[in-house]
Amino acid sequence: MFPGQEAVGTLLSSIPSGREEDWNGKMSEIKKKIQSVLPGGAWTQLHDTSYLPPEHSDVVIVGGGVMGLSVAYWLKRLERPRGAIRVLVVERDHTYSQASTVLSVGGIRQQFSVPENIQLSLFSIDFLRNINEYLAVVDDPPLDIQFNPSGYLLLASEKGAAVLESNVRVQRQEGAKVCLMSPEQLRNKFPWINPEGVALASYGMEHEGWFDPWSLLQGLRRKVQSMGVLFCQGEVTRFVSSSNHAETPSGEEVTLKRVHEVHVKIDHSLEYQPVECAIVINAAGAWSGQIAELAGVGKGPPGTLQGTKLPVEPRKRYVYLWNCPQGPGLETPFVIDASGAYFRREGLGNNYLGGCSPTEEEEPDPENLEVDHEFFQDKVWPPLAQRVPAFESLKVRSAWAGYYDYNTFDQNGVVGPHPLVVNMYFATGFSGHGLQQAPAVGRAVAEMVLHGNFQTINLSPFLFNRFHLGEKVHEHNII
Ligand SMILES: Cc1cc2nc3c(=O)[nH]c(=O)nc-3n(C[C@H](O)[C@H](O)[C@H](O)COP(=O)(O)OP(=O)(O)OC[C@H]3O[C@@H](n4cnc5c(N)ncnc54)[C@H](O)[C@@H]3O)c2cc1C
Repeated sequence: MFPGQEAVGTLLSSIPSGREEDWNGKMSEIKKKIQSVLPGGAWTQLHDTSYLPPEHSDVVIVGGGVMGLSVAYWLKRLERPRGAIRVLVVERDHTYSQASTVLSVGGIRQQFSVPENIQLSLFSIDFLRNINEYLAVVDDPPLDIQFNPSGYLLLASEKGAAVLESNVRVQRQEGAKVCLMSPEQLRNKFPWINPEGVALASYGMEHEGWFDPWSLLQGLRRKVQSMGVLFCQGEVTRFVSSSNHAETPSGEEVTLKRVHEVHVKIDHSLEYQPVECAIVINAAGAWSGQIAELAGVGKGPPGTLQGTKLPVEPRKRYVYLWNCPQGPGLETPFVIDASGAYFRREGLGNNYLGGCSPTEEEEPDPENLEVDHEFFQDKVWPPLAQRVPAFESLKVRSAWAGYYDYNTFDQNGVVGPHPLVVNMYFATGFSGHGLQQAPAVGRAVAEMVLHGNFQTINLSPFLFNRFHLGEKVHEHNII
């Protein structure tokens, strides 16, 4: 409690009820008098510091998207004793105008090929389906993330059939309920599909679907605020670190760094505010490569651990929304065509949304989020109209673009501490499946921070070291 705070509290509570209006009237008269003797116009507070971050926080999370908020949630949930750690989330844009989370298409599936990815999504589906067991806030209405249970339907050509079959084997071993379908079964179950060129399909019978990313983000925000997490609107622009020299087991001379201070540039101001901290979480999504660089990650000779960058960058992806009165009905799954084009229903009324990831050569300039409508005409519509003949007569209603937090090394998440910037932890790089895995990834990062190891799902294959060691995570189902 600050000096004088008690006195003010006592003063306010001693105003007899009914006299409050008198009190407010007097206050407003006093304000007017002060205003009349001060230079300048309307009454303004000269020093409103409510938007400033605290001077110290045990943990500073860079990025208030779904990843950052999930880490914040799990840190507070797993901390012992309650209230033990102070957590600050720094987000530069509270409208989230460019954040991947709110520009995603909200899908969750179990149909991955790497066991850890399946395990992450299996935990996340439990979290999402029981969202109020995790995110309910006393006296607030229950959270509704508009979960739409519906399987993913993955279609494979002759060339991809064997891989699809072996992926399903792994999915089943991990506990996912997925069935294989022949072209004939496909035609029977979904008569609106043209199975030409499809050799095999896999269909998720449980634990898949889509939901509203905004609702999840808002729910997480509301919950973590109720748990005491602090927020600050500002941009992380600098880290102040100390350094030590050491040698790796392979004899490489390295510099170990520890971040002591995070500088936050305050919105609409040239000022920055230093925040002393013990741990930094890099959850800056598509921009996490830049945040890593600010902390010195990758600043060393090429080919060394010291010179290994965080390979995460923004990659632009388009989403188109169309209407098709003759299109497939409510039982439509989330379809991933063998060509890579995808679509799903959007609400009722024969609206659909979909897109397709470009090839490496087609990658658009990520400078801005303008939509290329020709991409739909050339790359998305032809394969989808071939697969669903009713789509011959669709009408595009709107479109948007968002950034994948794209891991150029192997398109999988990066989770856990950096080996050299010893108190920076990553939760990034999920390249198109980060929304659905955020609930489980937040838990994994919190376990690492609080216990020093992964306790529930062993995510060692996702550690940063793999970039230096050249050990890719080979996930077949990157969309
Ligand atoms: C078109 C599209 C479709 C997708 N579909 C799916 C899907 O169906 N299922 C799925 O699971 N995933 C999907 N994704 C991927 C998913 O959206 C992302 O993996 C996930 O949202 C990443 O969350 P994040 O919190 O890391 O990133 P973000 O939501 O981008 O949050 C990062 C935040 O960091 C902030 N930030 C950055 N730098 C700074 C700084 N210096 N200081 C302060 N703040 C900073 C940014 O403002 C931003 O708000 C899709 C993505 C796109 C673009």
